[in-house]
Amino acid sequence: MKYVSTRDNTLRYDAAQAIAMGLSRDGGLFTPIELPKLGQGELEAMTNLSYQERAVRVMRLYLEDFTEEELTDYAAKAYSDQRFDTPAVAPLRQVNGNTWALELWHGPTCAFKDMALQMLPHLLTASLTKTQEEKTVCILVATSGDTGKAALEGFRDVDRTRILVFYPQDGVSDIQKLQMRTQEGENVGVCAIEGNFDDAQNGVKTLFSDPELRKTLAQRGFFLSSANSINWGRVLPQVVYYISAYCALLRDGKIQPGEKINVCVPTGNFGNILACYYAKQMGLPVNRLICASNANNVLTDFLNTGKYDRNRPFYITTSPSMDILISSNLERLLFQMSGQNDAEVRDYMEKLSATGTYQVSDAIFAQLRDNFSAGFCDDEGTRETIGQMMREHGYLIDTHTAVAFHVLAQYRAETGDDTPAVVASTASPFKFCNAVLPALGVTELRANTEILEQLEEVSGVPAPRPLAALKSKQPRFDQCVEKAQMKDTVLGFLR
Ligand SMILES: *Cc1c(COP(=O)(O)O)cnc(C)c1O
Repeated sequence: MKYVSTRDNTLRYDAAQAIAMGLSRDGGLFTPIELPKLGQGELEAMTNLSYQERAVRVMRLYLEDFTEEELTDYAAKAYSDQRFDTPAVAPLRQVNGNTWALELWHGPTCAFKDMALQMLPHLLTASLTKTQEEKTVCILVATSGDTGKAALEGFRDVDRTRILVFYPQDGVSDIQKLQMRTQEGENVGVCAIEGNFDDAQNGVKTLFSDPELRKTLAQRGFFLSSANSINWGRVLPQVVYYISAYCALLRDGKIQPGEKINVCVPTGNFGNILACYYAKQMGLPVNRLICASNANNVLTDFLNTGKYDRNRPFYITTSPSMDILISSNLERLLFQMSGQNDAEVRDYMEKLSATGTYQVSDAIFAQLRDNFSAGFCDDEGTRETIGQMMREHGYLIDTHTAVAFHVLAQYRAETGDDTPAVVASTASPFKFCNAVLPALGVTELRANTEILEQLEEVSGVPAPRPLAALKSKQPRFDQCVEKAQMKDTVLGFLR
């Protein structure tokens, strides 16, 4: 399997090159030149396999420059019972007769980012060896919460890697901050930035494009790379869990071979739902892909009209991991739907950066309509959904997952389509106690980690072990710098 850039489809790359480089030099994203097919027989053959075995079956179709032994080893390490608190890895929870939550937060940091960020370090370090890169990679991350911690856990103590995470001092939840400040590992660094997420993100972008910094670091034997979802090594492991969920429903007799399901995904950067689109293109029987947004509903409008328009107010919501106006992975969808037309994609992306808006061709819009439905839900709807889910089903969900359940209910009411549906559940509710508790009717919130016990008492659900363990951990990182000092922080970290 070869890969091309969404902005130049003339040059071909191996998977290892695409993963080692992360982003193409022309600014495009690496995508496979074709999507391998999974026949009905192959799906049925996977029903009795473990999650790890399914991961190998799916990933090997895309990673031909990796051996089966290598992939088996990575899957065993990434999804081991040391790191995931259930052998199913990504278990399905049945909510009613035709609705399931696909729980993607049983990993070490309790958000779905673990599904990919536990795998990426194995793929990346092997890719460095395969491409004969001799320098040590330093992963730089600007985070609004979930990505930073998941990347730290994934890369901690991984040979030939260092990782440095910047988070906005006042832009992440208390629990998220504590998760990062107590991070263990010899190769990790964590630093707060005075400012908001944009300051952290722009600061990191400036570092990436600083030739002088690159040169100094190269002399010291380092190069910079990123762990965000533009890397193919993060998208691919996400394709696995949709296929795995379908196999589990088949195995348990919940659906018949060939029967279609709907999938509803709470969406920000479009990485998670894109993985499901790829699974569908591979042959997974998916009927509708339902894209759920919060008040930042740029994708709802796009999927319903074919016009992308980021010129709108930006809202801070109770589902912060979806507070985003530019969904970078959409570029991969446009590339696929345009028939891998790099010139067309370049044109859209140039319009997006020049004017903040673009309109897709009729041909692409027709495919969007054929595959996707879209809706959104504000904070009030999120709150109501959390309360209702608890009252009616005794099921505690987080704010992002609530957005998806709300949008699925809207979709069903509007269309009458009662196809069995899987909702991607993207975070443990214990990561977002400050919004979840009020939705359950609690008005006085306890401080710091005591809020975890408060949610345990109110819901009767135990907190995930990695979060409960925060209580006894000492913070290791307390540095907070101004944006202008980020470069010195990197130079101090990479001695
Ligand atoms: C990152 C994240 C999302 C959004 O996923 P995308 O792949 O960016 O669309 C949704 N929910 C949670 C909890 C997240 O951490």
